[in-house]
Amino acid sequence: MPRYDLILVGAGLANGLIALRLRQQRPSLRILLIDAEREPGANHTWSFHAEDLTETQHRWIAPLVVHHWPGYEVRFPQRSRSLNSGYFCVTSERFVQVIRDRFAPDLLLNTRVAGIASRTVTLDDGRVLESDAVIDGRGYQPDAALCMGFQSFVGQEWQLSEPHGLTAPIIMDATVDQQAGYRFVYSLPFSADTLLIEDTHYIDNATLEGDRARQNIRAYAAQQGWRLDRLLREEQGALPITLTGDVAAFWQKHDLPCSGLRAGLFHPTTGYSLPLAVALADRLAQMQTFTSETLHATIQQFASQAWQQQRFFRMLNRMLFLAGPADQRWQVMQRFYGLPEGLIARFYAGKLTLPDRLRILSGKPPVPVLAALQAIMTPHRQQAMQ
Ligand SMILES: Cc1cc2nc3c(=O)[nH]c(=O)nc-3n(C[C@H](O)[C@H](O)[C@H](O)COP(=O)(O)OP(=O)(O)OC[C@H]3O[C@@H](n4cnc5c(N)ncnc54)[C@H](O)[C@@H]3O)c2cc1C
Repeated sequence: MPRYDLILVGAGLANGLIALRLRQQRPSLRILLIDAEREPGANHTWSFHAEDLTETQHRWIAPLVVHHWPGYEVRFPQRSRSLNSGYFCVTSERFVQVIRDRFAPDLLLNTRVAGIASRTVTLDDGRVLESDAVIDGRGYQPDAALCMGFQSFVGQEWQLSEPHGLTAPIIMDATVDQQAGYRFVYSLPFSADTLLIEDTHYIDNATLEGDRARQNIRAYAAQQGWRLDRLLREEQGALPITLTGDVAAFWQKHDLPCSGLRAGLFHPTTGYSLPLAVALADRLAQMQTFTSETLHATIQQFASQAWQQQRFFRMLNRMLFLAGPADQRWQVMQRFYGLPEGLIARFYAGKLTLPDRLRILSGKPPVPVLAALQAIMTPHRQQAMQ
């Protein structure tokens, strides 16, 4: 086994993007990708909004994008709206193809990593690989320093027996029965007669009853008049939604370079990580020296900065999760979707301005005032956490 400049453990979204960007910007770096599964980043549909990325980022990620729509819809009991903000979708099928094309000789699949140190990776079979640096991108790991709610969902891609008639994604249809928390259905029209339909719940713990979600999808499709014919694929997720946390304590435990969800790099309100993963890949591609120490310092600084910028979002999450009854959480989102389109785009991109923040908080709160104030003021469990 040759010696590598960089070993990426986990060939999922974050490390895959780092590998692709470094191959473009730093082609002389010798990179090895390792993943425990048969395919890198298997069985996901990763979506993002046009405004989440810069033009340059859109350009370099373009080979991964399979679907693109010029706008999307949302539906609530007292508000339906079409938004003219582009929506994009990367499929894991395409991701696998691109990663395999560019990295095949340096992609170790079906290979579980048992241990990581700053310059070595120990595989399950006992082999030890050496490198100047290692990045741990093995996905989400619960951490006592961060207090989370969850966005849990089951998504099914269906072949329909007739065209569905949808021309744009419905990224939230919250006109459905709310069940255990804030519930909505998310539908992406991949072709005239195929759809991804996700039954999504903002709930306090990660467990979602899969069978109930599958029944919900069938019931929703029937209600829309969509004739489900053949199930093509299913994906499931429980994405972390940050309520509060102690970032210093988190980084004390993460003393090796890490990426993606492992590094806490995701949007606090949606759990989506693609935009921050693209930004981190760009940031790493600007580095001059790749050692474990320089990578760790750069990633920690990047993540701590993101954490500070996300403070307002954590406060909104506490309003969503902790104020008022769970089955009334939809009212917070319904009100939010009445705000100007530019603000909504900046919200998803994690780039709210001060006037945006004031605008979000102005007017009559959609949840009881006292509970909302308690949710805002109480950093949940620990005073130090924000
Ligand atoms: C079904 C689903 C849909 C999602 N949709 C979106 C979306 O639309 N937009 C968005 O921005 N975000 C989305 N997310 C959230 C988030 O962006 C994804 O979870 C994303 O894949 C996280 O990237 P990551 O690189 O941190 O982890 P992953 O992409 O999960 O990659 C981790 C990799 O590490 C490997 N691994 C784990 N342990 C080991 C080990 N011991 N040895 C070797 N390899 C190991 C895994 O096999 C996996 O390939 C979705 C998540 C899920 C689960």
